[in-house]
Amino acid sequence: MENSIVLPGDVVGSTEEFVAGHDTYVAGGYIYASTTGQVEIDRERRSARVITKSNAPPRLQNGDIVVGEVIDMKESLVILSLAVKKGYESRPISDEEATIHISNVKNSYVKDLRQMFGLRDIVKAKIIDERQLRLFTGDEELGVIKAYCSRCMSDLRLKEGKLECPTCHNSETRKLSRDYGLGVI
Ligand SMILES: [Zn+2]
Repeated sequence: MENSIVLPGDVVGSTEEFVAGHDTYVAGGYIYASTTGQVEIDRERRSARVITKSNAPPRLQNGDIVVGEVIDMKESLVILSLAVKKGYESRPISDEEATIHISNVKNSYVKDLRQMFGLRDIVKAKIIDERQLRLFTGDEELGVIKAYCSRCMSDLRLKEGKLECPTCHNSETRKLSRDYGLGVI
């Protein structure tokens, strides 16, 4: 049974062999799956449980760290298309738009949003309003993690604290995450 995929009501094992773990129930000496998933046997604890294998996008909650792409910019608002939630990278988010208001970009006053973000930038942000999907980028780890040159669309490189285009030598500014260019969430 180990590692096999089961449906609710399928036998996972017997109570002689195992203790019933998560997402199982016991009836008549047998352990049954109460959900669809994969059987996992813990030999030390002699327990059998079912691990849910879901491709459903993760629920978005206040405090979650998410990554998205800038798809539009207004006077005082950046609009992101969300891609993933940190810790749930294998279950992409689709069709969720979130916003960063100019007052939530930094812990200090921001005058011009276009000095902070650019179209197509990849941004790491924290959810501060899960209902309206409002985001915050004031912490050190939050902000732009990848940016493109507004003139030629090359990847901007971080050089001595400044963003520079390796192709046309344009220099630009962003609200940078300390993880800029590292390719990590
Ligand atoms: Zn360039």
